[in-house]
Amino acid sequence: MEVNGVTSLAELDSSSLAQHDSWIVGSDEYHKKPISRREHLKRLRRVLKYASARDWAPESAVPTDDDWQQVLPSVSRSEEIRDDPLETERGEQITRWLAAEKPCSRDHVIWLLLFEYGLRVSAIRAIDLNDAVLSEPEEFPGSEFHPHIRLRDRPGLGGEYDAGLPLKNTNPEYADRLVPLYLRHAEAIREYIFTGTPSGAESSRKEFDVTDSHDRVGLLTTEQSPRVPGRTIRERSHHLTCPTTYREEPCDCDGCEAYRAENGRDPYPSKRGAHCERTRSPHQVRHGSATKLLDQMGPERVARIVGTAPDTLREVYDRADEYRQMERVADAMTNREEE
Ligand SMILES: [Zn+2]
Repeated sequence: MEVNGVTSLAELDSSSLAQHDSWIVGSDEYHKKPISRREHLKRLRRVLKYASARDWAPESAVPTDDDWQQVLPSVSRSEEIRDDPLETERGEQITRWLAAEKPCSRDHVIWLLLFEYGLRVSAIRAIDLNDAVLSEPEEFPGSEFHPHIRLRDRPGLGGEYDAGLPLKNTNPEYADRLVPLYLRHAEAIREYIFTGTPSGAESSRKEFDVTDSHDRVGLLTTEQSPRVPGRTIRERSHHLTCPTTYREEPCDCDGCEAYRAENGRDPYPSKRGAHCERTRSPHQVRHGSATKLLDQMGPERVARIVGTAPDTLREVYDRADEYRQMERVADAMTNREEE
């Protein structure tokens, strides 16, 4: 704004944000992907709202809802989702680190569900303790038992003013489902539930005498809560994907370097997400997970795990380039040759 001769918030008016956005588009120095412009404009609007509430900026500087839709660059759903997924190789490194250093801890279980099975935050939260079916029940309807997680959409649980525990899936065919577990993962979850391990004990499952607000018992609990809150899952996702965590050495991204230069130490674990450029949200982890699973099996099967229709998986979640695509085909051919 200074470059354009605006020196005081009081000079702003209803067209300022739109002008600013076109200036960004015309300039060589800035990110111009619609998603970046959107985020930038949203931040500016928050500042303007704050300023106008204190009479530092005229009320007209804050776009009305209608104007706002005109100003915001449109972003397709796929652009929104394609933004920086977790690289699958890095995800596998984190899985190995947790299995070695924090086996059967809450972090380990959250990570397995996020990255190895690509579950949404809403799905992970909704898992009840008895939805983890780890040993064969007396009456099992299937012909062969596999340890699994039962995902159930429970939107009606919470009554009129509570959204319940919905799985946020628009496609009912893929909402309720049974997700089979690898045996080693089933074992880790069992340990988490029943014993914990010396290194994982501090964050192992805490039993509560009380049930949650839906009168149910969650699989994942925290020290304070009988069911893990979404913000804990998001915070752990950022924490675990920071290289400082799983490489156990200072991360060399610009954000971490700058923080260290200024403060003489690494950001506290719970704040790493705010500084480190390599951390990833649960959604970005889920996205990396889908690509990894698609390396191993076809979209119809992956859909039954992650809970997204095969077409969406192919269009939106699959990051494989043509070489990766070729390797998948070659792997399948090798398997046939060996048979
Ligand atoms: Zn970093």
